[in-house]
Amino acid sequence: MKERLLPEKIDCSGFRTIIDALLRYDTEQTGLFFGEIIDDVAICRVFFPTRNIEDSSVRFEMDPWDIVVGHLVAEKYSLDLVAVFHTHPCGRPFPSRLDLRGMELWRVPWIIASKQETRAYILVGGNLRELSIKFLYV
Ligand SMILES: [Zn+2]
Repeated sequence: MKERLLPEKIDCSGFRTIIDALLRYDTEQTGLFFGEIIDDVAICRVFFPTRNIEDSSVRFEMDPWDIVVGHLVAEKYSLDLVAVFHTHPCGRPFPSRLDLRGMELWRVPWIIASKQETRAYILVGGNLRELSIKFLYV
């Protein structure tokens, strides 16, 4: 079976303002980016916020119902899940041990935003790979 091309870059143009707004919360904020993968670029078209049912500043679990509704919306517009998003309100944007476990299950890019910077990663064959991320406009 042919393996799907993995994205090397992620384009979040248009979502800087939303990410900055979510970083004002003391708890981890979460959401899903839907869009499309063209060549090696994951292009975010829609941000679908999800509730963090852990309501925690150091961990998250997305509300399963929000995940389902997000996918239904994406399906309606023929978009794919291109990234899992969450904030680290009081830490650096590096995956925690729990994040890495989640990345084993959700094999798409993970975007982690902190007050200092936003980074994106994908797990490939058990190895963490960082993606270049760009914001062309707010
Ligand atoms: Zn995390």
